[in-house]
Amino acid sequence: MTDTLSVSSSPVTQERRVVTAIPGPKSQALHERRLAVVPVGVTAALPVYIERAHGAIVVDVDGNQFIDLGAGIGVTTIGHTDDAVVAAATAQLESLTHTLFTITPYESYVRVAELLAEHTPGTFAKKTVLVNSGAEAVENGVKIARKFTGRNGVAVLDHAYHGRTNLTMAMNFKAAPYATGFGPLAGDVYRAPNSYPFHDGLSGTEAAKRTISYLEKTVGAADLACLVVEPIQGEGGFVVPADGFLPALQEWCTANGVVMIADEIQSGMARTGAYFASEHFGWVPDMVLSAKGIAGGLPLAGVTGRADIMDSAQPGGLGGTFGGNPVAAAAAVAVFDQIESEGLLAEAGRIERVLKPGLVALQEKYPVIGDVRGIGAMIAIELVSPDTHEPDAAAVTAVAAYAAQKGVLLLTAGTYGNVLRFLPSLVISDDLITEALAIIDEAFASL
Ligand SMILES: *Cc1c(COP(=O)(O)O)cnc(C)c1O
Repeated sequence: MTDTLSVSSSPVTQERRVVTAIPGPKSQALHERRLAVVPVGVTAALPVYIERAHGAIVVDVDGNQFIDLGAGIGVTTIGHTDDAVVAAATAQLESLTHTLFTITPYESYVRVAELLAEHTPGTFAKKTVLVNSGAEAVENGVKIARKFTGRNGVAVLDHAYHGRTNLTMAMNFKAAPYATGFGPLAGDVYRAPNSYPFHDGLSGTEAAKRTISYLEKTVGAADLACLVVEPIQGEGGFVVPADGFLPALQEWCTANGVVMIADEIQSGMARTGAYFASEHFGWVPDMVLSAKGIAGGLPLAGVTGRADIMDSAQPGGLGGTFGGNPVAAAAAVAVFDQIESEGLLAEAGRIERVLKPGLVALQEKYPVIGDVRGIGAMIAIELVSPDTHEPDAAAVTAVAAYAAQKGVLLLTAGTYGNVLRFLPSLVISDDLITEALAIIDEAFASL
């Protein structure tokens, strides 16, 4: 057994270490090769080429070690190359890599569906279809909601992000860069205001009233199949809705036969200290979409919903060649096991207790930090002009670039590019967070 794990023969120490300019010479050479063969539509936020990673540290081809505050956009939530995930995936790789679940099934798919039924909000009977990506989960959620309701309309909120496929690019708030020139876009998608306490100052009840009134006037509930909502918006800038907003929308959806879908692709899988962020708001959705963190870095996504809704799709209507691949499914089972056995839900709370006060202290020093928000290991700061609250994207770019030079990987977000988001692995130590905060402090001081 140990032989098969010898990939970790040179262990990744949990420390930051910058040994070349960033990007280093080997990264620069790789980037030249890339530019010749990879289209410009596929960008690189930071063109350092990564060779290996473990826990909260990634190591590039030049030997630089970065504190990873992004976890591949919330994918390696339980840490890079988690030993249990690597072992489960390796064992599965050696025994069975593919059959196609809709031809000849296997257990791990069923086990993932059981785990999702157990850990998504709500005690009712649930069923799950597994697919390959977040966008594919959104597509399937919408398909199923349409079949169940016999209606076409899809409602989304301002600042939403749901993916890059044809339907999902119509569901995103931002046309640029996600949809510009890629039309025709899917029809019957309707956008309504979200709850954004920092900017709208509304209570959850007030914001929900505005959203509902908008949907009733611009579409009408009778034409809506579903309302798709991220409980904490991801790409939109970790927008945390005011208390009461989400349950009020669910209540309206239930009363009007609209399927309410939680897009928990970024916020789910222990990221916020609950299995799914909906729990923090007392929201029990009809359907929950998971992806990113579900399989420790392997591609897998799930659509989990009330059994009667899920069973409305006809036999053969759901599935796909790679959906619920055995290796990805085995990795997902290991992720659920690790969350339990390592107490990782509590670790998200620990991270919040170190990170948030650190960021609030920076906010007191640097007035450009208008808002510190988020839950667990999903925290963001929004940078604005202190007087007008006008977005300050230039400051975000400068801080992220400064941090990268010092070996800290920091992701940006927000409709206006003026949010820095922190979504580290749940295994990051307090010391690494504190070290990263000191560098971010320097970065703000340098502005
Ligand atoms: C990333 C993301 C998606 C799309 O997932 P992909 O796997 O990139 O297709 C959808 N919704 C949310 C909230 C996301 O963060």
